[in-house]
Amino acid sequence: MPSPAGMVLSRTQASRRSATAVHVSRIALCSHDTVSGVLKIMNVATAAVGVLGIGFDANSSFKRGPAEAPPKIRSALSSESANAYSETGYKVWPSDQVVDHGDLDIPDETGTRAPIDVIEQGVANALATTDRLVLLGGDHAVTYPIIRAVAAVHGPISLLHVDAHPDLYPDFQGNPWSHASPMARIAEEGLVDRLVQVGIRSYGPDQAAMVEQYDVEVHPPWSHGPGPELRFDSPLYISVDVDGLDPAYAPGVSHPEPGGLSVRQVLDVIANCAAPRVIGADVVEVNPTVDPTGITSVVAAKLVRELLGRLLSESG
Ligand code: MN
Ligand code: MN
Repeated sequence: MPSPAGMVLSRTQASRRSATAVHVSRIALCSHDTVSGVLKIMNVATAAVGVLGIGFDANSSFKRGPAEAPPKIRSALSSESANAYSETGYKVWPSDQVVDHGDLDIPDETGTRAPIDVIEQGVANALATTDRLVLLGGDHAVTYPIIRAVAAVHGPISLLHVDAHPDLYPDFQGNPWSHASPMARIAEEGLVDRLVQVGIRSYGPDQAAMVEQYDVEVHPPWSHGPGPELRFDSPLYISVDVDGLDPAYAPGVSHPEPGGLSVRQVLDVIANCAAPRVIGADVVEVNPTVDPTGITSVVAAKLVRELLGRLLSESG
């Protein structure tokens, strides 16, 4: 296993890391009781970033399964096959700087507002402890209530959305909370300053009209060379639907769409997009029921590891 000890950190990174170490306390607190699952003892007093699982897929239009993803992604993150460090040199999992809030307990209802409200409140509660979060989906329907909670704390924000699909259906088969519609809800409520989509390669005229109406910036996948130069003026939230990746890399999804991005291209987008600060991220649409080798959870864990590294690089 490669050791991070050999990594060369920039002067800024090194000073940030030593400054971080000084502030790590031994005080352990209990996580708040609104997040169900195991009550954990952890260093929530000093953690810079939180992780929260949102295993909810009742608004998936074609296949269910993403509700089972959070434990699979955690298991891949914790596997001894992998390194605890991001490529940028931050210890992310396990780490005194990252607190695991567990998983939300969400009513398994399709097409109703109740689960949306539970997710929004659960995310708000976790944000009260760690004001930056990486969320583990769940299908993409979870991003609308997440953004409501995140924008209430950090707004106005920008949203960078990696996906094969724009998820801009006004409703899908009559369901406004569908996983095909979160970006429509976000856009119409004006929850973000700017919506920039990357990897988009599957949509028709109805969603094209929404792109036009809400000034969405759409970048299709690119074959080689650097991707689009992405610069944001407000705090940035990154939402990654793993079907934005090519199914060769992430086959375990409900809507595989060939011709997508490579893992490295998505990692480059995460590393290179410029923003005053990245204040949160989610990785959604891993479907373990169609991922027999588990590779899609491993890819999702890699994305989570580098997203946590990016968040930790901007701590303090
Ligand atoms: Mn999506
Ligand atoms: Mn998608």
